[in-house]
Amino acid sequence: MNVLVSKCLLGCKCRYDGDDNKIKEINQIRKNNPSLNFIGICPEVEGGMEIPRKPCEIKNKKVINEDGVDKTLFFKKGAEISKKKALKNNVKVALLKAKSPSCGKDYIYDGSFSKKLIKGDGITCQALKECGIIIFNEKEIDEFSSYIIGNFS
Ligand code: SF4
Repeated sequence: MNVLVSKCLLGCKCRYDGDDNKIKEINQIRKNNPSLNFIGICPEVEGGMEIPRKPCEIKNKKVINEDGVDKTLFFKKGAEISKKKALKNNVKVALLKAKSPSCGKDYIYDGSFSKKLIKGDGITCQALKECGIIIFNEKEIDEFSSYIIGNFS
């Protein structure tokens, strides 16, 4: 089964600051579910942004970096690429990085660059949800594992 995963959770150093967000559980999940095929996405890099880059947040439906420069088009392009990848590979479930203006699910930063969270989804998460894809973030790794075991083992 194909599962879309934020590349930084897989250990790719594609984060805005050149680091990763690798989660330790990922190798065990792979071992326990050999039929899983993780398809990595990094909408920001695939949308044309560089590593490293200035951090971005969503404000008034636009994505701005910390200098106030509008980067919305990069984020929309990245979301479109991720959506196409998901549809082409018949993806039904995704594991995405929490709080990101691209991958974040349910909560994102509020656009003030002060670490304040508000309800909302990142641009790619929104696009994938609209396709009916079930999204988990890395804080929900146990729920993700249970879902995989319950539906695809
Ligand atoms: Fe990770 Fe998504 Fe940000 Fe890429 S866009 S670094 S995959 S959270």
